[in-house]
Amino acid sequence: MNPSVFCRYCGEHILATDSSCKYCRSEQHLPSVYGGVPKNNAQGIFAFIYCLFLGVFGVHRFVYGKRGSGALMLITLGGCGIWWLADLITILAGKFEDADGNILSPIF
Ligand SMILES: [Zn+2]
Repeated sequence: MNPSVFCRYCGEHILATDSSCKYCRSEQHLPSVYGGVPKNNAQGIFAFIYCLFLGVFGVHRFVYGKRGSGALMLITLGGCGIWWLADLITILAGKFEDADGNILSPIF
């Protein structure tokens, strides 16, 4: 059984190995754990915006499936801003992954 991931564009659940979304038909890029090469994607920009404005509440982690660390971030208010800043830099550096191992980067 293939693990499911979120479509990078419409957010529907699709198979990790699908090359395109069956809901919105947009082309997917395989996450690095499945041998894909990370590419610029729309989600990365959203991840950055979420993190920039709502990051201290862990919103970017909740949205991309990291509920445990998201809750911890909410309680600590982004680790008093330090964790928030670290996440912001991680996203900008193209190293931030969602719970499925998809790299969310706004810049490539
Ligand atoms: Zn889609």
